[in-house]
Amino acid sequence: MNLKRYRVGKKLKLKDISTDDTDKLDRDEIEAETAEIGEQLTSLQERLYAEGKQSLLLILQARDAGGKDGTVKHVFEPINPQGVVITSFKVPTETDLKHDFLWRVHPHAPAAGMMAVFNRSHYEDVLVTRVHGLIDDETAKTRFKHIRHFEELLASRGTRVLKVYLHISPEEQRQRLQDRLDDPSKHWKFNPGDLKERALWDDYTRAYQDALTATSTDEAPWYVVPADHKWYRNRVISELLLETLQDMNPQYPKSEYDLTNMAVGEL
Ligand code: AMP
Ligand code: MG
Repeated sequence: MNLKRYRVGKKLKLKDISTDDTDKLDRDEIEAETAEIGEQLTSLQERLYAEGKQSLLLILQARDAGGKDGTVKHVFEPINPQGVVITSFKVPTETDLKHDFLWRVHPHAPAAGMMAVFNRSHYEDVLVTRVHGLIDDETAKTRFKHIRHFEELLASRGTRVLKVYLHISPEEQRQRLQDRLDDPSKHWKFNPGDLKERALWDDYTRAYQDALTATSTDEAPWYVVPADHKWYRNRVISELLLETLQDMNPQYPKSEYDLTNMAVGEL
């Protein structure tokens, strides 16, 4: 699969990018491929952990009901939970707000050997805040610069940074939010505030386009992943992780001991 076509360059018009692309494949084929990729992820993650030198950070951003939670649940299922730390960023606390916007984020960057996922991230500070006029354009620009430098810092320490925007259509969002209303077992996920955010669809589109183009760099590229079909979304993100881990090529470390003549004896 050519993942480059989802990579964000200097220009981005979300309206022109398909939300329901499936690469002309059907669901069964895609799911079989995703399972195969999952097996490879399992073994590469073990190497990453054993090597203990590099790390991988996946940043997930999306509109409400865009599929961030589902992505975490399905894409990371094959991976040893001991090697992954998932952090969900909610509305900043009073303490958070007494610091710069990256203060609460940095401690959750992955340690050597680890994978980390940000379910929402520091990008909220140039998205929701901007759409609601809590920051002006000048501040947004300054924050883009700080974000680029922050991610460059992580990269220089051996962290691969991958960023994914889950791209859904307004119709798909309507359906998913309506499903949450119709199904009592999904009521806990329904937040009436999501309807207010939905009404600001075009403002979010502009804010996303701006943020993604300003911060898609070689060290930390953005990918716009078609996400109306959850199975296709899972497939693309699994492969993104796979290609990245293959490129990182983690190695099992050599033992510090000479094991050639060692054997485990009877008790
Ligand atoms: P959810 O992901 O549905 O649990 O909702 C988390 C909420 O926290 C969303 O409405 C986000 O927009 C909000 N949020 C997360 N980070 C920030 C931030 N830095 N500033 C303002 N709101 C935020
Ligand atoms: Mg929500």
